[in-house]
Amino acid sequence: MIQNHPMLVNPEVLAGKLDLYREVFLILDYDGTLVPIAPRPELARPDESLLADLKLLCGLPGYKVAILSGRVLGELKEFLPVPGLYLSSVHGVLIEDPAGNLTALASAGIETVINRLYTIAAECIGDKQGYIIENKLTDLTIHFRLADPGAEEVLKSFIEKSKGICEEFGLELLEGKKVLEVRPKGLHKGKFIDWVREKAPLAYITFIGDDTTDEDAFACLEEGLGVLVSKDHRPSKASLRINSPVEVQEFLRLLITKKLNH
Ligand SMILES: [Mg+2]
Repeated sequence: MIQNHPMLVNPEVLAGKLDLYREVFLILDYDGTLVPIAPRPELARPDESLLADLKLLCGLPGYKVAILSGRVLGELKEFLPVPGLYLSSVHGVLIEDPAGNLTALASAGIETVINRLYTIAAECIGDKQGYIIENKLTDLTIHFRLADPGAEEVLKSFIEKSKGICEEFGLELLEGKKVLEVRPKGLHKGKFIDWVREKAPLAYITFIGDDTTDEDAFACLEEGLGVLVSKDHRPSKASLRINSPVEVQEFLRLLITKKLNH
């Protein structure tokens, strides 16, 4: 798919676009999309009004709502206690539907490899401050938002030392907003889009996301709609752009109002 610069729209225009469809499967990234990015991942919590809006959205006729995030399932469940919500964790690797049914898209055995990479990351960081290493069993994430200017060196040595293992086990390294992730190749957010298309073939699939890992999902949308959250005009596989998480929340409220007034 060609990378273009998605056209900027306001929340009203975006809500109007979705209002044309009888059945919508709305998929939302979490960090940087629904809530602003926080200095530490545990601080990016939703406020009460966002939770209330998500509850209302899940109850709208013709609507299904999913969160598609790099976070682990336990965290998504704790942050978003919303009945009716689909949760897709670690970039779509483990999915929980509203009835509590689990679907795992990752192959078994990857955990041992991720554990080895965790040890390497811990060695490279040593006693340097400001890093968080997250072992998500099928994915390793190094957060370095709070690290000192030496972060580049640390990451370089981690990449150097883990290169062999990544090649051997078919893992790839991906750099996002102040995070470095290692994950199995071909296991990405786009897989969840495929899963949704199978579950709800008639629904208009809309995905909103802000980061590098969201591009795989944009690329898999076909007739659906991809919306990039970004203040800046930049290349993406999404077709539209919205400014900020604040505008995403405004868009959700407008969707609710439109539907309830019908
Ligand atoms: Mg994000």
